[in-house]
Amino acid sequence: QRVGFALVGLGKLTLEELLPALSQCKHAKLAALVSGDPTKMRKVAQQYGIKPSSCYSYETYDELCDNPEVEVIYIVLPNSMHAEFTIRGAQAGKHILCEKPMANSVQECEDMIAACKKARKKLMIAYRIQYEPLNRMAQQLIRDKTYGRVKMIDAMNCQNQAHDRQWRHQAKLAGGGSLPDVGLYCLNTTRFLLGEEPSEVYATIYNTPGDARFKEVEENVSFMLKFPSGVIANCATGYGSFNAKRYAVYAETGTIKMDPAFTYRGLQQERVHAPDGQQIIEQPSNPHKDQFALEMDHMAQCVRENKTPYTPGEEGLQDQRIMEAIYQSARENRPVPLPVVKKLDAFR
Ligand code: NAD
Repeated sequence: QRVGFALVGLGKLTLEELLPALSQCKHAKLAALVSGDPTKMRKVAQQYGIKPSSCYSYETYDELCDNPEVEVIYIVLPNSMHAEFTIRGAQAGKHILCEKPMANSVQECEDMIAACKKARKKLMIAYRIQYEPLNRMAQQLIRDKTYGRVKMIDAMNCQNQAHDRQWRHQAKLAGGGSLPDVGLYCLNTTRFLLGEEPSEVYATIYNTPGDARFKEVEENVSFMLKFPSGVIANCATGYGSFNAKRYAVYAETGTIKMDPAFTYRGLQQERVHAPDGQQIIEQPSNPHKDQFALEMDHMAQCVRENKTPYTPGEEGLQDQRIMEAIYQSARENRPVPLPVVKKLDAFR
């Protein structure tokens, strides 16, 4: 029996990626829709065979509590709405899969974790990269010390945001600019690869003067993370330049590069090392699995097998803490130490 998902928000990600991915899932299936646009919802419901009684508005959302076909609610709304819809969803007795960034503040993240805990429901943050095979392969190589100890990482996630007036340019709805939207991939993936939490951040932010997109939210962020083992990660994110979505991990006897690393498709890995003094370049084939299907199937299996998701709410909370320290560092133009936290691998 596959686990029924309700998708909340019928924007670009839902329409272009999640709905098609659900048809590839082995353990998850579409069971309900939630939208503020009844006309759009009717069309989507017809296309995907969802009955009118399983279509909800933001106002009737809480009535999901009476729909036993839905076990998981997947929240795909603007960032400022994640906390409210997670808390209401848990109160309706459903497990929650929430898009990244988890929320707009540490307080909201803590409230979401508390609400799910109180309702005894699972909470997973949709960090798709952590379910993607080539990134997992990179993690394994690092954790196995295949090329010795990691010393440096550089990671970059940039894209040129459209000039339309959309929620991503509004601080209240988005929480920030490039950092929580795409820079988060550099931060979260670095933590995922190393299995270690940074002890200090140092950041700077710079916006192109006069660009209307960056009146409320930041354009470019450069941030450095220091890890207790000695690793330095240099990360950069931007909202005004052409796509760059890559990282490289420099270890004692080899380098692992992913370029692109953060896209939905076409990821590539290259490994450079010199076992007998002769440089070797290896490019493993890409297994081409849909990341969104893998991520939703993971949540479905956690529900069926009563397991904690690999990327639980605590993972989103930790990223939010670090992002707040990044903003503080840029504001105060100084390194900001981070509190020591338990290795999040403990949750896995
Ligand atoms: P989008 O703008 O395409 O869709 C947002 C949806 O929310 C729309 O259906 C819109 O009608 C609805 N909405 C409700 N209230 C709104 C309001 N006040 N203002 C604007 N829209 C409102 O956005 P998206 O790209 O689908 O992103 C949705 C969420 O998914 C975000 O949290 C984003 O960070 C996340 N996301 C994740 C990935 C990923 O790779 N994991 C990719 C894209 C987006």
